[in-house]
Amino acid sequence: MKVIDSLIPRPGLRVLITAGGNGIGLVMAQAFYETGARVHVCDIDTQALAALPEGISHTVADVSQEADIEKLFQDVAGLGGLDVVINNAGIAGPTAGIDEVDDEAWTRTIDINLNGQYRVAHRAVPLLRESQGVLINMSSVAGRLGLAYRTPYAASKWAIVGLTKSLASELGTEGVRVNAILPGIVRGPRIERVIADRAAKCGLSYAEMEKEYLSGVSMKRMVEPTDIAAMALFLSAPAGANISGQALSVCANVESL
Ligand code: NAD
Repeated sequence: MKVIDSLIPRPGLRVLITAGGNGIGLVMAQAFYETGARVHVCDIDTQALAALPEGISHTVADVSQEADIEKLFQDVAGLGGLDVVINNAGIAGPTAGIDEVDDEAWTRTIDINLNGQYRVAHRAVPLLRESQGVLINMSSVAGRLGLAYRTPYAASKWAIVGLTKSLASELGTEGVRVNAILPGIVRGPRIERVIADRAAKCGLSYAEMEKEYLSGVSMKRMVEPTDIAAMALFLSAPAGANISGQALSVCANVESL
């Protein structure tokens, strides 16, 4: 195979993406679909799911609900197996100091961001063993750094790196690859909400807070959702065949957030 051809996933891959209704998940779903993959997504946003391009199938499912995950895997059975599973669902969690973070906010963030990935992985691994497939877990540069005023989020994203490296060690001899993607600050509605929320709390303008967020980024610009989709495609393509157990940052030198 020519190197250039090895960069593109083979057509017909069976792909599951959680939280594929909006943001990075949606861009990844579209990117895989364009390679000829059979793509199934889940999300809690029913309107976004209804607006998906024809050809991308879906299930309404909340990754924090075991019954929803069961239904998701019943629906996915129609694909006859899975080659790529992307554990993308994750919430920003509270943007607050530790004194204001209550048990409910902490538990909810961990339950969606970490336990949700466990729930999906638990059901996906038997299918990935059969296909010699790929599991991709969405972490964040917050999975390498401390993140002031977003401790539950950062804790969940560090835990995802541990989940990823452990599963990669466990499943490597069975031909299953497991990697984490660690996006930097990605352009989109989610980061706009986070910046606006923090700006309001600090009495700063949106532009001032955005500048502060980008202060540790050498390129002084946000990552694009398509950059994350490109990394997911690469990891799922023949070129990624010897990459497993890695926490791959897609960012430009974020030193602190
Ligand atoms: P987003 O907020 O734009 O979209 C998230 C999607 O998740 C929405 O469609 C929402 O309905 C869905 N969702 C929320 N809770 C859910 C649940 N319990 N079950 C199923 N679906 C649920 O998010 P995004 O920016 O596209 O982020 C996607 C992933 O990338 C997340 O894991 C996030 O932590 C990670 N990430 C994002 C950034 C960033 O700057 N946007 C940076 C680093 C990592």
